[in-house]
Amino acid sequence: MSEEREFQTEVSRLLDIVANALYTEKEIFLRELVSNASDACDRLRYEAIAKPELVKDDPEFKIRVSFDADARTVTVEDNGIGMTRDELVRNLGTIAHSGTRELLKGMNGKSKDVNLIGQFGVGFYSVFMIADKVEVVSRKAGDDTAHVWSSDGKGKYIIDETLKDTRGTVITMHVKDDASEYLLEERLKHIIKKYSDHINFPIVMGGGANAVTVNAGSALWMRPKADVTEDQYREFYRSVSGGMQVDEPWMTLHWRAEGNFEYNNLLFIPSMKPFDLYDPRRPHGVKLYVKRVFITDGVENLVPPFLRFVKGVVDSEDLPLNISREMLQANPVIGKMSSAITRKILSELEDKAKEDLKAFSEFWALFGPVVKEGLYDAHAHRDQLCRVARFYSSAGEDLVSLDEYVERLKEGQDQIYYLSAPSVEAARNSPQLEAFRAKGVEVLFMTDTIDEFWLPMQGDYKQKKFKSITKGSADLAKIKSDKPADDKPVEEGAKEKTDKLLARLKDILKDEVKDVTLSERLVDSPVCLVAPETDMDIHMQRMLKKTQGYDAATQHVLEINDKHPVITQLKSFVANDVQDELVKETALLLLDQARIVEGEPLKNPGDFVRRLNHAIEKGLVVG
Ligand code: ADP
Ligand code: MG
Repeated sequence: MSEEREFQTEVSRLLDIVANALYTEKEIFLRELVSNASDACDRLRYEAIAKPELVKDDPEFKIRVSFDADARTVTVEDNGIGMTRDELVRNLGTIAHSGTRELLKGMNGKSKDVNLIGQFGVGFYSVFMIADKVEVVSRKAGDDTAHVWSSDGKGKYIIDETLKDTRGTVITMHVKDDASEYLLEERLKHIIKKYSDHINFPIVMGGGANAVTVNAGSALWMRPKADVTEDQYREFYRSVSGGMQVDEPWMTLHWRAEGNFEYNNLLFIPSMKPFDLYDPRRPHGVKLYVKRVFITDGVENLVPPFLRFVKGVVDSEDLPLNISREMLQANPVIGKMSSAITRKILSELEDKAKEDLKAFSEFWALFGPVVKEGLYDAHAHRDQLCRVARFYSSAGEDLVSLDEYVERLKEGQDQIYYLSAPSVEAARNSPQLEAFRAKGVEVLFMTDTIDEFWLPMQGDYKQKKFKSITKGSADLAKIKSDKPADDKPVEEGAKEKTDKLLARLKDILKDEVKDVTLSERLVDSPVCLVAPETDMDIHMQRMLKKTQGYDAATQHVLEINDKHPVITQLKSFVANDVQDELVKETALLLLDQARIVEGEPLKNPGDFVRRLNHAIEKGLVVG
């Protein structure tokens, strides 16, 4: 029964973009079709492990590319799994790929968009860059009926029954007038070599006695490293990531593991962040093969979640070929391979960080927050993760490791100080840092959400406790300073004055803060906010509120800097019982100032502005 149907709206839009593409790399249509054909062969080969009758009549998987210059057609044919009528409708009439769908959102066919989509590869639909009519004839392995899908790529397609003697799919493209170059044998061969050399099935051109296999046709990951070129690695990376990674691999790891278990690995770390890095439904990036047969890309934890940006192939010699996908997860070989692969990746990262910190910093900026998830939940890899992790710190511009930090501990320092802040910039400007800086004590900056989770879990590193500098007391007294101590004689009655001010401030701010105390950590700023020792860091409370909607509603502690001129002035007002209104207004202004620096919201911005203007006015008039 012949039926005319309309494309899903998104497909129509995509087709518009594709058809109008002034896009230079139209040749990628062949890469896309060959990659689909290869997937189809992979899938049937896997099914045939349990049902060998599916491939009995034609056991040699093959992809054939041919052309007819007179009829102006190019054909790509495979003897893979094929598609039923429903599958033709679903696969070629809608967009299944969430990545492409995502990309299409907010695109409207501007030339910039076209380039973007061109880079990503639009899968099957890319045929409409070079063809004005396409026919797909397909017969599912195991079925006796075949169907033909045809379209000119303009909103509608037709689907009908047809005859086909063998399983698989034949795609015939009627080449557009301006795409005649694809009717040349050498051109087609060249494109196949360029993009599809690593494909695991023979790609054949020509028929009968003239048939030649164009691609190298052996699994790239099985070849010795020395025989693989950068270009081949890059193309493989592209294809193994389903066309979603258009960057250069940041790191290529190609190795063979021998010993109790044997497996070959070709893994890549991207240099560009995958758009779905934080999407829990994202597909797994590493494909599992068993003796060159594709099994699945759905084994959870073949690489752990904290390395989920890694793409590539793991090919085991030990797993049974007929293992069901469901049983994989429970197989101990998977667990053993997974820990060894994880150790290998981490040790490469560790080396890279030592050899080339600049390059490592680029990686860390993209994936550091993901890797640090391992510090939270991958105890087996803790030591290695601690050696890989890098942090910005108050000591300079470069990332530092925990080992470097520990080596630089000051005399008397027995804790690893860190400052939790929304950004490195904010951390550097933090008033809580002042005394640490003055004493030359290094402070690590924790700027990722995940830091708030792993820090409490880790507790310490090399017997040094992690200690937040915005929480509890600063414990700075016992650390030896770089600079000579400030030994100005203590003024008569100074302590009483300070105590009196503290008492007055506590009373004024009793509804706003938990306590008002004398600060050890301030040098230049008059005040700052910290969390009580037993509470969560202020920044963490805010994080949790934002991400989990959790509102701890705890009160902070306001610390004052005894040596700051503003505080000195307040002390003398309070000591002499004068200017109480001004003391009150200033106290509230200082509290709001501390909140602003901390990134906390003001309870009443209007009041703050009024107080500030009043203070400015006085300053201007007096000054
Ligand atoms: P993708 O390959 O990223 O899924 P495509 O647009 O290239 O997207 O293909 C869409 C779907 O059509 C594929 O996922 C597959 O299910 C089906 N398909 C395409 N070509 C073939 C083929 N030669 N044999 C079997 N199925 C195919
Ligand atoms: Mg595809």
